[in-house]
Amino acid sequence: MAATPEAPQAPSAPREAPRALDPKARAGGEGAPGALWLIAVPIGNLEDITLRALRLLESVSAVACEDTRTTRQLYALLNLKAPPLISCHEHNEAGRVAQVLEALGAGRDVALVSDAGTPNISDPGARLVRAVIDAGFAVTPLPGPCAAIAALAASGLPTERFTFVGFLPSKPSARRRALAALAAAEETLVFYESPHRLEEFLADAAAQLGGAREAVVARELTKRHETFRRAPLAALAAAPGVSRGEVVVVVAGASREEREAAVDVAALVAEARAQGLPPSAAARWLSQRCGLSRQEAYEALRDPAADPAADPAADARR
Ligand code: SAM
Repeated sequence: MAATPEAPQAPSAPREAPRALDPKARAGGEGAPGALWLIAVPIGNLEDITLRALRLLESVSAVACEDTRTTRQLYALLNLKAPPLISCHEHNEAGRVAQVLEALGAGRDVALVSDAGTPNISDPGARLVRAVIDAGFAVTPLPGPCAAIAALAASGLPTERFTFVGFLPSKPSARRRALAALAAAEETLVFYESPHRLEEFLADAAAQLGGAREAVVARELTKRHETFRRAPLAALAAAPGVSRGEVVVVVAGASREEREAAVDVAALVAEARAQGLPPSAAARWLSQRCGLSRQEAYEALRDPAADPAADPAADARR
């Protein structure tokens, strides 16, 4: 007798309809089985687990995780029954993709978690998420703790625009180059760093970004010894503090003076003028290259001191 094909397996526990804050809102995904759930988990304080995460962590048929021991411990601390765990870290992620796709194809839900925080943020998951999307399955995030966002929100520095840099290269020369490339960035910068490299990082950041830049070292977020040190980079570099505990470093963006110092603005102004573009196009061209706002670019184009041909003394001033 020919074997009957295996019927798609339902999720181990039926999912309830999503509860939306706004009754008119549609919460996607939860109706269709065979989805990859990206579940954020605490970064130090167990109480930061969400109600939705608690429900999904138990109802999925398998969990792809960075370290099975850490995830098993999390389930134990949360008093949840763990489904089968699939080890999925940076060295075996490619190999685990097929296993996850097979489960999704059979109609089973799979979760992805990392050891702490949001999966796929400075953690494994990018390859798996891409493969799941390409294969036509749903990828649904369960938002929650993320060290970068927690540090930024409490930093006191501007938050309208920011760049999440994550970890810089550990090799000093590559790290300094990466910092130098960020010297003219106008927006707030958010870095992850290991505690034993913090001292070197702060010294390099002060040298490459400027010692006067306001910065914050956010340590042990959400934990008992959570601290925020807010000071200019030079002061933080001079007294980096203890070399233990997890840290996020948030650094203010470049001021107008710093942005101008980081590029040869006068040469670019001369080039913009030489192109004979209409003022608005010249200002756009200049602002994109110098990191100046459009208004600042207009002003630089109008300023005779920025044109060596119009004002020979400007050469001597530069
Ligand atoms: N996926 C995680 C997230 O969403 O934040 C980040 C994982 S990354 C491998 C680990 C880095 O995150 C640490 O080196 C540190 O820079 C930062 N980090 C994680 N937990 C933290 C905490 N409780 N306090 C401060 N920084 C933390």
